[in-house]
Amino acid sequence: MSKQTHAFQAEVAQLLHLVTHSLYSNQEIFLRELISNASDACDKLRFEALNNTALYEDAPDLQVRLSFDKAAKTLTITDNGIGMTAQEAIDHLGTIAKSGTKDFMSKLSGDQKSDAQLIGQFGVGFYSGFIVAEKITVETRRAGAAAAEGVRWISGGTGDFEVETIQRAERGTSVILHLREEALDYANTWKLKEIVGKYSDHISLPILMEKEEWQDGELIDPNDENGGRKPGGMVKTGEWETINKASALWTRPKKDISDEQYADFYKQISRDFEAPLTWTHNRVEGSTEYTQLLYIPSKAPQDLWNRDKKAGIKLYVKRVFIMDEAEALMPSYLRFVKGVVDSADLPLNVSRELLQESRDVKAIREGCTKRVLSMLEDLAKHDKAPESAEGVTDVLSDEDKAKLGQYAKFYAEFGAVLKEGLGEDFANKDRLSKLLRFASTTSDTVSVSFADYKARMKEGQDAIYYITADTLAAAKNSPQLEVFKKKGIEVLLMTDRVDEWALNFVHEFDGTPLQSVAKGAFDLGKLQDDEEKKAAEDAAETFKPVLAKLKEALKDKAEDVRVTSRLVDSPACLVVTDDGMSMQLARMLKQAGQQAPEVKPVLEVNPEHALVKKLDGSVHFHDLAHILFDQALLAEGGLPADPAAYVKRVNALLS
Ligand code: ADP
Repeated sequence: MSKQTHAFQAEVAQLLHLVTHSLYSNQEIFLRELISNASDACDKLRFEALNNTALYEDAPDLQVRLSFDKAAKTLTITDNGIGMTAQEAIDHLGTIAKSGTKDFMSKLSGDQKSDAQLIGQFGVGFYSGFIVAEKITVETRRAGAAAAEGVRWISGGTGDFEVETIQRAERGTSVILHLREEALDYANTWKLKEIVGKYSDHISLPILMEKEEWQDGELIDPNDENGGRKPGGMVKTGEWETINKASALWTRPKKDISDEQYADFYKQISRDFEAPLTWTHNRVEGSTEYTQLLYIPSKAPQDLWNRDKKAGIKLYVKRVFIMDEAEALMPSYLRFVKGVVDSADLPLNVSRELLQESRDVKAIREGCTKRVLSMLEDLAKHDKAPESAEGVTDVLSDEDKAKLGQYAKFYAEFGAVLKEGLGEDFANKDRLSKLLRFASTTSDTVSVSFADYKARMKEGQDAIYYITADTLAAAKNSPQLEVFKKKGIEVLLMTDRVDEWALNFVHEFDGTPLQSVAKGAFDLGKLQDDEEKKAAEDAAETFKPVLAKLKEALKDKAEDVRVTSRLVDSPACLVVTDDGMSMQLARMLKQAGQQAPEVKPVLEVNPEHALVKKLDGSVHFHDLAHILFDQALLAEGGLPADPAAYVKRVNALLS
């Protein structure tokens, strides 16, 4: 193929413009990005070679070489990985494939300065090279292809790039950066070693550089008082040395790994630029042997709610990379966990399909799940300083101090996903219910566990009361809570969309049933004294005729109408039957375009309320009845079926 010119995809051109026209606080990330690509290319080769060892040709040792030529002003990153065909070079180096880069593009604000900072945090893969290079030449050959099928790709980082066929004996890829004048610093052994140490130490692949040696300058005049030499300098020796640790981090003993190294490794595998919240690292021995290094991120990714979101676990078998996003290794409700599992038992040629069926994988998945739950339990246990301890900060160990407030952070990001586990992982349901946290009528922050609640229950209280609503404000001001407030009984306020669904799987906690305050007939059991019960029965009796009329007037809207003692200030509220779907869930399903059964609620009225007392004998009875119902609906976040009619009725009464 002779030389062809191709235009960059529009997004690439836009990205390149930004990359080349801004100043960067950390330019050096270009090297991390290119080494990471080289390492991926080697991983890909290793994987393909599992079924075709010929791909190794005569170079089975996978490695990355860094070299520079000061005179030519070039810095070259060479790998002997999978390489690219001409078509692959055109496709992969002319478009944006990586989701991380797309994410980055979506975050661009148009303000050059802050956008430039973002590049440093995200990295933009191959295109990062243009941060330091005015031109990039890529020479590559796909493993297994003939030497004549080498490819040269050249671009100045503006609108287009050129591709042509070349002879290339070695398999793999060389990325040759033609350094900008102001980036010539990078053509320096020390500088490169420093950057590799910072970003790429844990790449499990050796990164090599040619050794240098000091050489005295040439002797010109032995009688000269300076020794008569030209200035000396470092010269290349032709011998290559490994400049990174090149050992997979997870294989090293815990005690030899610093927190910073753990965090760096996390950033490398997750492409997250924030440090993780916490991690766990263990070698598991027994019927299946494996090493797990699992991280919990600090922040939820944007696509957390995408149901097709891939798992964050990389699978290795005896340190050989097998696959990314090994969903079989982690249940879906823990899809936010990132990390590495390295198995000693699985076959190297294991496929995704095989993974689903393997008993070893099942054991690993169970083990990983337990580990993550233990990690969360530990955070939860240390989340709040012990109340009894005085001068808490002196009592706690540094390690425990560091855990203060961490669980709350975790929960704010991932709590809602964790709840999916209640319906998904029955074996761990008890552990999961202990990890749940809610706001309540005594706590605005989402920090109350079922156990906290139980410890505060009133004498004679025999249920854990809760309410579900769309927002915290709606929950807090809900009429159903009035009598609970009056009696000082705590009610959990649940405002996550998954709560209603998740609670289908949790009916009790530690022997105490959960009871929605918006479901079923009102019964506070022993919390109500005989006098109150008697008053309620009397009211029901005297109100019988009015209730019958109300029922008739509202027969299309309400399943039933009854008096209640759950209200204090409000005239009426709506409840559903014990096993019925809540109004809120029915609304949510409808909004999501799903089939929801028509929920016909029960209207409960407060016999003590002036408006309710007025009903009997009122000439406006019909309008009042409908207003009562529609207002109860509004109060719990719903909308009257016919809003205009509602407004008309209210206005008629007002005027
Ligand atoms: P990413 O690596 O995240 O996919 P990049 O923009 O860095 O995004 O690279 C785009 C694609 O170019 C890669 O997915 C890969 O297919 C190809 N590529 C980049 N560098 C190399 C390399 N050294 N060897 C083989 N292929 C490469």
